[in-house]
Amino acid sequence: MTPEEFRRAGHELIDFIADHLDTSAGADGAPNERSVSRRPVQPTVAPGDVRAALPEHPPTERETFDAVMADVERVIVPGITNWQHPGWFAYFPANVSYPSILGELLSAGLGVQGMSWVTSPACTEVETLMLDWMQELLGLPESFRSTSDTGGGVIQGSASEATLVAILSARHRATNGAVNAGGDTTGLVAYATSQSHSSIEKGLRIAGIGTDRMRTVPHDEQFAMRPDALREMIAADLAAGLVPFFVNANHGSTSSMAFDPSAEIGTICREHGIWFHVDGAMAGIAALVPEYRWVNSGIELADSYCTNPHKWMGVNFDCTTYWTGDRASLLGALSILPDYLRSAAAESGAVIDYRDWQIPLGRRFRALKLWFTIRMDGVDAFRERIRRDVQLTQSLATAARADHRFEVVAPHPLNLLCLAARAGNETTDALIERANASGTALFTRTVLDGRSVLRISIGSHTTRSEHVDAAWELLQRSV
Ligand code: PLP
Repeated sequence: MTPEEFRRAGHELIDFIADHLDTSAGADGAPNERSVSRRPVQPTVAPGDVRAALPEHPPTERETFDAVMADVERVIVPGITNWQHPGWFAYFPANVSYPSILGELLSAGLGVQGMSWVTSPACTEVETLMLDWMQELLGLPESFRSTSDTGGGVIQGSASEATLVAILSARHRATNGAVNAGGDTTGLVAYATSQSHSSIEKGLRIAGIGTDRMRTVPHDEQFAMRPDALREMIAADLAAGLVPFFVNANHGSTSSMAFDPSAEIGTICREHGIWFHVDGAMAGIAALVPEYRWVNSGIELADSYCTNPHKWMGVNFDCTTYWTGDRASLLGALSILPDYLRSAAAESGAVIDYRDWQIPLGRRFRALKLWFTIRMDGVDAFRERIRRDVQLTQSLATAARADHRFEVVAPHPLNLLCLAARAGNETTDALIERANASGTALFTRTVLDGRSVLRISIGSHTTRSEHVDAAWELLQRSV
């Protein structure tokens, strides 16, 4: 591809993306023909359809951009699940924004590898600044700032990677670093509730702890961890000669948006020197809004914390912000310095080499999309959107309470509403299937204490009140 061909294709691709994301009504009262809102939320393809629509073997001749785009329109777009659709109520929001897309594009165009400061100083320094900006915007503890003696922040690819990094740091601290040499994790025990994300269990497996040594701490009727039960379980494990080393608290659990009481949990962890990780992957972003700062209650006792700008904030996946107050354990767990990575800058101690803060060596310039988004969309826009989503959720909860066929089955302080059909699990399951088959909205099923539950997650940037009203009418028709 020549620079001129790239220029032309780039303009066309941006037009294509702008049309795809534009859900506003045109002169004829309808969104443009390529708008995501004119498509079903979930594609109607069967397994294997997408592959079967494309050539089995790679082309032997060079193809044009137009030919590739024809296949994008013919095969790719009809084969995607539309996370940016206004009827998106499934899983969690995974928003994009125009500034963030531009930041991604610039990152791709600059093509730098920011594994060390010396391999691209701006990549490292903008990232450090973005983590400090986010610490300030979210009102997180000063000990997480890059300027603190003991802490700092980094962009991880996902909350799952952040959790793994936290577990590895905890494992290093609990074994005084001996795990690096012997790999021995014997006796280490971790704690979380059944509401915790599956990435906790996955991280423990990867770290060689194993699920037999993951304790499921009982939760209360709000699906929040019971600190008294945690305390008892820790005491029992200590009495058995085991080593409690890691506790995860949810600040907004995936299934039910539960908030574990971190002030009490953190106090218990401090008493025993246990690493305390807080997972605010989805809900932590709400702290951008001053009146929702409570989502971070107790976080000052945490050793590590993560939240995902790639969920509710409009920064394209992947962008998890991760902070720790114990940088030494993180570096102890992950820092290895082969000769080919040595640099005078690193040895001077004046710079950060982010390769030591993550699992892979290589890393993209992900901070650009956060920087572009914060500067060009602006924090007030995020705050407005978060307030709007919470208000839409509260209105929907009021409507659901007024319909005797539905029951609200979990607290809904933010943008997730959990409903069940009073007629029982089969009715709830059939309702979800029927509503999802409509193509106009998509919901996710979960199970809370044995009960089938319909999750309604409101947070797509294209969702407005009329879409929530339409979704509620759909559910009322489908029950
Ligand atoms: N933690 C919580 C509370 C989540 O809701 C999710 C995603 O749903 C995750 C972790 C995992 O996020 P990621 O895809 O960034 O690994």
